[in-house]
Amino acid sequence: MGRVAESIGRPAVALECEDARCGDGRARPRRPAPPGAAAAVTGAVGFGVFSHAGGPPRVGFRVGRGVLDLAANGLGTVFATPSLNAFLALGRGAWEDTLGRVRELVAGGAALLPLEETVPRLPFRVGDYVDFYSSLEHATNMGRLFRPDAEPLPPSWRHLPVGYHGRAGSVVVSGTPVVRPCGQAQEPADPAPRFGPSRRLDFELELGFVVGTGSHLGEPVPASAFRDHVFGVVLVNDWSARDLQAWEYQPLGPFLGKSFATSISAWVTPLALLEDRFAPGPVQEPEPLPYLRVPGEWALDVELEVELSGTVVARTNACGLYWTMPQQLAHATVNGAALRAGDLFASGTISGPERGSEGSLIELTWNGAHPLRLGDGSTRTFLEDGDEVVLRGRAGDVELGEVRGRILPARC
Ligand code: CA
Repeated sequence: MGRVAESIGRPAVALECEDARCGDGRARPRRPAPPGAAAAVTGAVGFGVFSHAGGPPRVGFRVGRGVLDLAANGLGTVFATPSLNAFLALGRGAWEDTLGRVRELVAGGAALLPLEETVPRLPFRVGDYVDFYSSLEHATNMGRLFRPDAEPLPPSWRHLPVGYHGRAGSVVVSGTPVVRPCGQAQEPADPAPRFGPSRRLDFELELGFVVGTGSHLGEPVPASAFRDHVFGVVLVNDWSARDLQAWEYQPLGPFLGKSFATSISAWVTPLALLEDRFAPGPVQEPEPLPYLRVPGEWALDVELEVELSGTVVARTNACGLYWTMPQQLAHATVNGAALRAGDLFASGTISGPERGSEGSLIELTWNGAHPLRLGDGSTRTFLEDGDEVVLRGRAGDVELGEVRGRILPARC
């Protein structure tokens, strides 16, 4: 992978993937796959829902540029449905059995539908959507931008994974166009709040996890039960209107600046395919409370990239996130809130410490002060109508499903 986009007025960054670092500066870990793990299916991407030749939506497993139709290959009627939810609810044993069958079918040369002949659908009915704020670098950058005269991190930030409940009904599948939102904003030069199209539309590079096995109201889910409840991961673009966000976010947090659209991959990559990509996370100081202490290695080594209208503008790695996925799950349920199949928990914007590793335009351009120059010579501070953003992720031999979205003009 090559050089990221030049940032005008800031030093250009040549962030090669081989040079990527986790949050504490360690070299990115490379460990052999445990026996029986991911070696699984060469070219595997994950489970999703598709339609083909005008037929009804159904569950498939993507392998490279092909899709295995699971119901048509005898894996059961649970896959002849327009969402993954019923399969997710079957639990870990069924997930592992199915992956084993998929492995046998692909190794045996089962016919795959060409990916380009399939139409991707939202892979699961999203239950609750929670968005965290897990990147120390992102939270620090945003604090400096939004509250330049105060401590960048809120007092609670190092004690718990900060998050909020987002709008599940606005989660859309990769490829869905995103209409520029309208709303209220008041910027320093405005004498009064104005209403109109967002002028500071942004992307957020995130990694989400998808719940399979639910839980009971009133019963916290410990971090140690993560693998029993969580099916897999998806890339997430949590589109954000920074001008709306800045005007509305105090005192209750994100609202209309976030809820107009959140894009996810069409393919959910099972945790079972990522077992050799877990690594030690950043050191947490102070030590978290007992319910947030998780034995084992839980940072996920996924190389990430953002392409904006044909130019790669950011590269980073999810392994630098301060708060890990099991900690996020434990925190979100410690008050007894129940999980349901299809719940989506996103990491929050993933930014690294180096220039060119920031997962949003507001950070990459420092709120527009340092525009990016794209490959065609044009410049960007925030997204323009017609821009297309593509998020990509790779975990060793496993490619995560991309997230693609193009901006359409506002309708106000
Ligand atoms: Ca977000």
